[in-house]
Amino acid sequence: MNKPYPEWTCKECGIEHGTRLPEMATWHEDKCDVCGEVKSVTEPRDFNHFKNWDSPKNSITMKFTPKLKRRNAFLRFFQSQ
Ligand SMILES: [Zn+2]
Repeated sequence: MNKPYPEWTCKECGIEHGTRLPEMATWHEDKCDVCGEVKSVTEPRDFNHFKNWDSPKNSITMKFTPKLKRRNAFLRFFQSQ
């Protein structure tokens, strides 16, 4: 069974489960959803998303598709002028 996708991850867990090191990340003090410790955490996407966790792709789609669609619609509008 897959684990639920974490909302926040600390640096150590991000390095362990992510696929790359963050170039830019906004760290804040919170509970790491992976190890449960309160420390500096950021979003798993800063580690290029976690492997072998529940539906990270679905949450990416839900989070980012509307924005992307609006942007594409805007570009199409812009290019048609
Ligand atoms: Zn952790």
